[in-house]
Amino acid sequence: MGGDVRKILRINLTSKQVRKEHLDAEFAGRYLSGRGLAGKILTDEVPAHVDAFSPENKLLLATGLLTGTTIPTSGRFMAVTKSPVNGGLVFSNFGGTWGSQLKFAGYDLVILEGKAEYPVYIVIRNDSVEIKNAAHVWGKDVFAATEALKQEIRDPMVKTLTIGPAGENLSLMAVITNDLNHVAGRSGVGAVMGSKNLKAIMVRGTGKVETADPVALKRILTDALQKFKGIKWSKDDACFQCPFPCGHRSKGKRGEALDSEQSLAPELGSNLGIYDGQALQDVSALCNRLGLDQAAVSSVIATGIELVRRGYIKPEELDGIPLEFGNSQGILEWIEKIAYSEGLGVKMGLGSKHLAASYDALDISETPKKRKRAKTPVSEDLRDLTVVIDSVGLCLFTSGTFSLSDYTELVNAVIGSKYANEELLACGAQIRNNERLYNLSVGQN
Ligand code: SF4
Repeated sequence: MGGDVRKILRINLTSKQVRKEHLDAEFAGRYLSGRGLAGKILTDEVPAHVDAFSPENKLLLATGLLTGTTIPTSGRFMAVTKSPVNGGLVFSNFGGTWGSQLKFAGYDLVILEGKAEYPVYIVIRNDSVEIKNAAHVWGKDVFAATEALKQEIRDPMVKTLTIGPAGENLSLMAVITNDLNHVAGRSGVGAVMGSKNLKAIMVRGTGKVETADPVALKRILTDALQKFKGIKWSKDDACFQCPFPCGHRSKGKRGEALDSEQSLAPELGSNLGIYDGQALQDVSALCNRLGLDQAAVSSVIATGIELVRRGYIKPEELDGIPLEFGNSQGILEWIEKIAYSEGLGVKMGLGSKHLAASYDALDISETPKKRKRAKTPVSEDLRDLTVVIDSVGLCLFTSGTFSLSDYTELVNAVIGSKYANEELLACGAQIRNNERLYNLSVGQN
């Protein structure tokens, strides 16, 4: 058996107890791994009535069946929890290299439960798992805290998940940041980590992910890689095993280099009227530094600008900071106020909908969901396949390259299973049903 290593790391932050649990193969086979398996564990273990910020909520970090293998884009993994935004089950997809390192350390997934008495960080190095005091980096931004902790444990190669001030202050727009530029956002996963007093999780593994049938895998990849022909493989801050990194590195006016994702320009630029590329990079870099979701920040600031324009937000609420379209300096200051929960930033930190609702002007709310409402019909099979791709730990950007049969063959070659195409899709359907049932139980449709 390969692919998954069949081990769960369960860390209770209240009691500081660390348990390594065996993962049942039959159970895992029905929910694959990643989004599917973590979702099932969460729905079994966290009752619908639990408050997302209570110690009873859990945060799961789950690799996919194929994470850490030689398959292109096999670096994806998931943060799964009960969302503080709507109480439903939320799964947020990560790139970077943390997930593959967790596999190399010998674990399929980490379950974080309880709440630490004071700020802590966790260091996982193969069998060794330590919970350490993080009081000295609590309040530091993502970049500074990550650097300080790497130096402290004297391991520059360790991979780190970190939250910034936004997560510490329970902003519903807080993200968890991996390798400084890859984030899991939407639905407040960073705030759940902050609610557990957990600043960072560092991992380094020296093992490898076994493949049940390496000959078959080589054959499938040789065929599939024909489709990647002509692509120059780059290692610059790409996700693990990715032949076509989708970010690009650039510098803002403040000189801060970052990898930006393709969605950056429409999300931040046109929404906030910032058309100067360097100013745009500064806004984007500040969101990453403070641990904020760029799309959510873009929405809430756009909503704030409109509330000011229509007279709902009064000048005395602005602390002298301009909140207006195209004013990038003012927008930078508002991002700081959101992350540190200051003044109007407290309300803004709850997101666009809550901000608009607090002025009884819900129609003004500008959420990412609203903007993406124009949808083309998607077949049930495609929805199920998307869930499968999420659950096996590959990037959705490869879905135009691999067919359903490719995915089935890859899974079978790596873990030694005998899934037929329909059976793999049935796993996707089962995972979706589990998510929907839970969300219905908390009143989300
Ligand atoms: S395409 Fe982009 S998001 Fe997907 S694995 Fe590659 S770098 Fe990561």
